[in-house]
Amino acid sequence: MNQTVRSVRGMNDVLPAEAEFWDVFEDVIRSWAKAYGYRPIRLPIVEPTPLFKRAIGEVTDIVEKEMYSFEDSLNGEKLTLRPEGTAGCARAVIQHHLASQRPQRLYYMGPMFRHERPQKGRYRQFNQIGVESFGFFGPDIDAEQILMGARLWGDLGLSGIELQINSLGQPEERVRYRVELVDYFEKHADSLDEEAKRRLHTNPLRILDSKNPAMREVISNSPRLIDGLSVESMAHFEGVQKILRDAGIPYTVDPRLVRGLDYYNLTVFEWVTDRLGAQGTVCAGGRYDGLVGQLGGKPLPACGFAMGVERLMALVQESNGVPSSPEIDVYLVYQGGVAEELAPRVAEGLRDRGISVLFNCGGGTFKSQMKKADASGALYAVIIGDDEARESEAMLKPLRDEGKYPQKRIAIDSIADEIMKSFLDEDDFNGCL
Ligand code: ATP
Ligand code: MG
Repeated sequence: MNQTVRSVRGMNDVLPAEAEFWDVFEDVIRSWAKAYGYRPIRLPIVEPTPLFKRAIGEVTDIVEKEMYSFEDSLNGEKLTLRPEGTAGCARAVIQHHLASQRPQRLYYMGPMFRHERPQKGRYRQFNQIGVESFGFFGPDIDAEQILMGARLWGDLGLSGIELQINSLGQPEERVRYRVELVDYFEKHADSLDEEAKRRLHTNPLRILDSKNPAMREVISNSPRLIDGLSVESMAHFEGVQKILRDAGIPYTVDPRLVRGLDYYNLTVFEWVTDRLGAQGTVCAGGRYDGLVGQLGGKPLPACGFAMGVERLMALVQESNGVPSSPEIDVYLVYQGGVAEELAPRVAEGLRDRGISVLFNCGGGTFKSQMKKADASGALYAVIIGDDEARESEAMLKPLRDEGKYPQKRIAIDSIADEIMKSFLDEDDFNGCL
């Protein structure tokens, strides 16, 4: 017997009940981004592999072991399914000279791909919402992006997401720190795992980002980058914190917070919850003033963050339950030769007025069609037989609250008005989040 084909491990279908919820979520995201003047940008899912190697850095989890890379079988070009969005976004800004006239605020959403071990909150195809700015130097934009996070949690009805911030200073300051850190870890080599030992001389900062619980202690006693930062770097960091304090956003400075990607400098931040088990970071970002230059563009300061949509969705469902599906307004039932001609026109006429219609496809008796109407969850059945059709009338039958709105025969032209009138009484019309 043939085996059925299944989806790739770690790459999941989002079925209609949940996909409807994603739609609502994406609407919330669009108006939230607009409220801060961030404009959408849509980027390719496949990019040249060197883009990620240059942007993210060779000695990183992503580039070392998580990328889906392949050669184009037609021309041998090395390509990669994007593991994150910042590199592609920066590439597009450079390629189209987007920030040459004025700074840019951009956002995007879509799937990212990383070859990780699938588990709750960690998938091989997952979705991110990314927010990026290009051309702003000051701490005000860093703080703006942190405030954006805080507002979004409110818009989604989420609480208990905690903010951690740190400053990575500038690359020159990290050179000195790196020596100090290597020295420390060499003295404690016994406490390092294999990966950390391997990174000790290539990318020691990354050791601080280790998820290995056995290394927690050696990491928490390591020297702190923040203790050796320049006056300028500290002033920038203080500038961010002042805006957060004024806005009443609580935060913790975590001196060992580093980001997994090489291109960050100055401010880094993460929003973390303890309600999602091990995969608790829902949003992470920071400043990456070096990236555009590193990709060959004219140096341009930049700042951004990315959110894991699946993790956020899990949190919303855990906090607020699964919202109800948006309702269908009308199920259209019809039978007979005259009715058959009229029915599609009635359906389109209702849709012209913004009413959603499930059209009975596949025929059937009135009784079997009414069964489907009941099962559809529609608010009304519009029923057209030949008798009604000849008079340009239809039966309007409420499928819920029948006591309140009794079934009645009315002119086809007034069905939409009648339905709209009943909606005015209901405040839950298509309400979701
Ligand atoms: P982690 O430490 O959890 O591996 P990361 O540092 O690799 O995260 P980023 O590259 O900063 O993650 O991506 C931003 C956000 O995208 C993360 O905070 C998380 O919410 C989400 N994310 C990252 N990887 C995955 C994944 N494999 N599956 C689901 N969401 C993910
Ligand atoms: Mg990761």
